Amino acid sequence: MIFTTRFAPSPTGPLHLGHAYSALLAYDMARAAQGRFLLRIEDTDTARARAHWETQIYDDLAWLGLAWETPVLRQSEHLERYNAELMTLAARGLIYPCSCRRSDIRAALSAPQEGVARAPVYPGTCRGRDMSSRKPGDALRLDMARALDAVADRLPLTFVDTGSVQPGEHTITAQQLVTHTGDPVLGRKEIETVSYVMAAVIDDARQDITTVIRGADLFDTTPLQVLLQVLLKLPTPAYHHHRLIRDEHGKRLAKRDDARAIATYREQGATRADIRKWVGL
Ligand code: GLU
Repeated sequence: MIFTTRFAPSPTGPLHLGHAYSALLAYDMARAAQGRFLLRIEDTDTARARAHWETQIYDDLAWLGLAWETPVLRQSEHLERYNAELMTLAARGLIYPCSCRRSDIRAALSAPQEGVARAPVYPGTCRGRDMSSRKPGDALRLDMARALDAVADRLPLTFVDTGSVQPGEHTITAQQLVTHTGDPVLGRKEIETVSYVMAAVIDDARQDITTVIRGADLFDTTPLQVLLQVLLKLPTPAYHHHRLIRDEHGKRLAKRDDARAIATYREQGATRADIRKWVGL
């Protein structure tokens, strides 16, 4: 199997030093393994994704000296595919419509960020509702208890992390998924989109990703992604969660932190060698 990894930014703001580290690390690891490095644009959150941020992603990465295979997979062009997978879960009775608060539904559409509190585990108010009762605007949730029943012979689930933050084989128990993940939102029909976790899992398999390299802030989404892989009969890749690049106060860099945007450094005359040095590569 050829080592294949990807950098999968969401075009919702400028790439900063943390993204530079993630992309460069993935690129370096792919080169060292004589493997493949892919770029994937995760723009399923159509309310926040912008074309100019996507253009800037290409410019920034090229300036950093990266090369990637084309065509680039843009998730907004494949919404039907994700939706079809969601409907296969629905046909198995694993999904129910939910009309509860919008805030946690919104949160589910994009990847989590360190320091931004996750919505509490959903109390299950709409659980038991049938898909035929779905109304426009309803979110679609995974019924965790039923999902766990469906994968009972595979429990506990496992994945391997090759990064240095939480290295080794990780075990995911049913209890952990019930307590920490609950019934997650996987889709929201009226804007024809699926949650970040679902789209990423489908594309990681479709693109034959063997190692997912990404920041440690996404570590906690891995148990749900592994569960979805087992439910959808997709392979589980290795994960490589890496350290986060922090500012001088120890805070993780955020998209709105323009001062540390790669484009800003570029305009100020920094070189790609400077960026590599600053992120410790
Ligand atoms: N699109 C996600 C983000 O911008 C990253 C997804 C991943 O690497 O799994 O944070």
